[in-house]
Amino acid sequence: SFSQRDTNTHYRRPEAGRVPVGIGRKRMRVVVTGGSGFVGSHLVDRLIERGDEVIVIDNFFTGRQENVVHHLDNPRFELIRHDVVEPILLEVDQIYHLACPASPVHYKYNPVKTIISFTNVMGTLNMLGLAKRIGARFLLTSTSEVYGDPLEHPQKETYWGHVNPIGVRSCYDEGKRTAETLTMDYHRGAGVEVRIARIFNTYGPRMCLDDGRVVSNFVSQVDGLMALMEGDHIGPFNLGNPGEFTMLELAQMVKETIDESATIEFRENTADDPHKRKPDISKAKELLNWEPKVPLREGLPKMASDFRNRILNENEGN
Ligand code: NAD
Ligand code: UDP
Repeated sequence: SFSQRDTNTHYRRPEAGRVPVGIGRKRMRVVVTGGSGFVGSHLVDRLIERGDEVIVIDNFFTGRQENVVHHLDNPRFELIRHDVVEPILLEVDQIYHLACPASPVHYKYNPVKTIISFTNVMGTLNMLGLAKRIGARFLLTSTSEVYGDPLEHPQKETYWGHVNPIGVRSCYDEGKRTAETLTMDYHRGAGVEVRIARIFNTYGPRMCLDDGRVVSNFVSQVDGLMALMEGDHIGPFNLGNPGEFTMLELAQMVKETIDESATIEFRENTADDPHKRKPDISKAKELLNWEPKVPLREGLPKMASDFRNRILNENEGN
């Protein structure tokens, strides 16, 4: 249970008559956990651009300060180094809860930290407890991994999934399933306003160089997260690109668009890797007016040039 002994206390009293932004919209105070990560930092850019006050909570497990460094001078931006497994006191209107080691490269390296230790369980519980105490709206970024190795294709949000509970990927899949459960329990039990997005593989600038996940949807689905937060529907909503391709087709497209001289190697797959996956996004299209905009052929070169620049900068820095 929460006590005020927490040293990382950031109180922000609601200001009287907050500044209206645009027509009929108040400036929001928004927390983004995991906001210095890949998806989170793009979301922060959009929220700052819209005129909101943004607090990022991040322990820099996979996130990088460089991703948000361009906001550090902005008085509407605040960066708190904090692990969400520890309680925190804040006063905000909305909580985007993204904090979670999201790539297999990271969660296989420390599965306990990913699930039991709490990033998914204690971290989500703490952010829901915070949302309950201050009456903030809470959005969870869940994942297509909750569908496991799906027996239904394409996947609608009504599909319950096919997840191996004891496999090497389970820490992430089951962790996110638990996070969804907690989210709905706080909604039903404590009346917290919640939103759930199930994000399908996303790629783009600022992705970890060693991310290791397959690319499918350009990071523009940040718009989908904001539409979900602002709208009236709890979800879950699939946010992803329904354009389907085989891994070989993808490899060939990488050759064509990024490096003609690249060669293709065939290797054993990892355990429990889903055989195929494709989001049914009719619900997001209809209720959030959202659909992906960037075709792979355009998105891939953008990501590649960002990776090139970063590798170049790292080498120069050495
Ligand atoms: P990322 O690793 O770039 O970002 C995660 C961020 O959370 C990092 O900045 C990391 O430092 C931070 N973090 C991790 N554990 C934390 C903790 N205990 N306390 C505070 N901060 C912590 O990953 P991403 O791709 O940006 O993913 C963001 C969210 O979106 C995650 O919840 C992920 O599960 C979800 N998601 C992403 C994808 C995708 O393809 N990128 C797909 C499905 C779901
Ligand atoms: N919590 C938090 N900040 C808050 C309120 C709660 O971090 O402003 C944490 C709290 O420490 C607890 C979790 O959220 O670990 C769940 O809180 P809740 O009030 O729902 O449960 P309780 O504290 O009654 O067990």
